[in-house]
Amino acid sequence: MASPPPPPSSGLRPGSTRCGNHPDVAAVDTCSRCGTFLCGDCVEYLGETVLCDACYQRLGGDQPGSRSARTAVILGGIGAALPLLLAAYSLAVRGIPIVESAFALLISLGMGFAGFGLARSELRRIQAGRAPIRGQRLARAGLILSAVNFGLFFLGLAAVAAFFFFPLLRG
Ligand SMILES: [Zn+2]
Ligand SMILES: [Zn+2]
Repeated sequence: MASPPPPPSSGLRPGSTRCGNHPDVAAVDTCSRCGTFLCGDCVEYLGETVLCDACYQRLGGDQPGSRSARTAVILGGIGAALPLLLAAYSLAVRGIPIVESAFALLISLGMGFAGFGLARSELRRIQAGRAPIRGQRLARAGLILSAVNFGLFFLGLAAVAAFFFFPLLRG
């Protein structure tokens, strides 16, 4: 009576496990999504994530990030740049133009909220496998830029308020 085959090992011991596609080649890693054993030739990297070719394709590894992810970065970037431009302008003219400041800060805040919301929903779509995973980095950048944007907005607001309420600062 033939003995049953040994149970599949859990975890990856180098040299003991074979590639799922190449039975005569030792596996070096496993697909983080489906768990297939992979040899060096079969490993695909998506950022730091190890994937098999099938999962790489399924996650849209060849596709660039979605338009939503790029838009989130652009919104966050412009939103963060506006208060900086305002600060540069204020330094150049040695004064804070109240109306323009309020206008620029409001636009900046709007872009921050829009970019933040877009990045959040894009990250959720990527996690659900409904958007190309390459957009993940973009969406995260969008989140960070939006956070910078919010910070700058309140700094700008504080600067305008200080300038407005403490005329001594006007020199
Ligand atoms: Zn896989
Ligand atoms: Zn292989």
